[in-house]
Amino acid sequence: MQGHGSGFLAENAQIKPEHEHAAVCSECGVCEEHCPQGIKISQELKEVKEFFF
Ligand code: SF4
Repeated sequence: MQGHGSGFLAENAQIKPEHEHAAVCSECGVCEEHCPQGIKISQELKEVKEFFF
């Protein structure tokens, strides 16, 4: 991740309550069952976690 978006995410990572951080994803996959775009959300959150934390 680079550019404008990474700054936004970094700022939000600091202001969000801890229970809403990407790091708390348990990879249950429930959200992926509902995503109309087929985004592998748990994998994406894992990458966000590795990038920011
Ligand atoms: S896979 Fe989706 S629904 Fe499950 S914990 Fe992670 S973000 Fe939440």
